[in-house]
Amino acid sequence: MFWLGSLLATLFVVIAVGVATHDGYIRRHYRHPRLLIGALLTLSILAIPLSVGIALTAPEQQQPWVQYAIGALFLTLPAIVALGLHLRHSPRLPARQRRVLAVGAHPDDLELACGASLARFVDEGHEVMAMVMSHGDHGGIGEEREREALRGAELLGLEGVTVRDFTDTRMAEEISEIVGAVEVAIELFKPDIILTHSAHDQHQDHHAVHLATMRAARHSPTILCFESPSVTQEFRPNFFVDVSEYLESKVSAVQMHRDQSGKPYMGAKLLRGAAVFRGRQGRIPQAEGFEVMRALSSDLGEL
Ligand SMILES: [Zn+2]
Repeated sequence: MFWLGSLLATLFVVIAVGVATHDGYIRRHYRHPRLLIGALLTLSILAIPLSVGIALTAPEQQQPWVQYAIGALFLTLPAIVALGLHLRHSPRLPARQRRVLAVGAHPDDLELACGASLARFVDEGHEVMAMVMSHGDHGGIGEEREREALRGAELLGLEGVTVRDFTDTRMAEEISEIVGAVEVAIELFKPDIILTHSAHDQHQDHHAVHLATMRAARHSPTILCFESPSVTQEFRPNFFVDVSEYLESKVSAVQMHRDQSGKPYMGAKLLRGAAVFRGRQGRIPQAEGFEVMRALSSDLGEL
């Protein structure tokens, strides 16, 4: 029985390590990720000592219940994945596909402010492109933060993300250049919907990117402003995206930004709480809120 016990123990260790290291993937692709991660880890951790017991015990001393228990756990694993914890629906082509351009100042801004909405738009078949105006090297390591922005965008399923090199904390002095950069992005991508920072944001870079984007998007009919952790009390959302199924995707995308993980606003508890608060305002369980600067009804319909 040594080989069988060893094989099972290895298999369950692989499952436990796989679940622990790929929790971001599970959060993005499964409807009930926390339940799935908890169930798989619990079952694997229970099965590992039982498997080791089988490997180390002589066949004549083997307790039959140990083998039955491990067999039951082993059969339960695929059943858990298959039943009830099914995959989120895969991207499909909506009646009208929108192009969404999200413009943020720093590498983690988009995930924090509207990561769940972006993931939802992607799953509903819309094309989402992100633009980040700086590497954020004043508050962290620029190169690392760029890599984290790419990982966050990949997890959310965005078409792509461009990280520009405007000066972190001093974007107010570069507004003309930022206008030019956003104009080029609008010209190339031709977005139906533009998302950016709010005017009601006390971070000087966020405010500068808001002004620059409003200027660059002067011919665009639909502009929504998202909620960064630094918005003021004047931020009053009047457009809500139901993100009940996408909060865990947002949490995972934010957790990609390890460089900033010490910041108090990066915590999962806070992200979930904010979504409940905005959801209450929108009369749904969990939401991300946006301020509508202007909107063409056909651009926002069905979103
Ligand atoms: Zn920021």
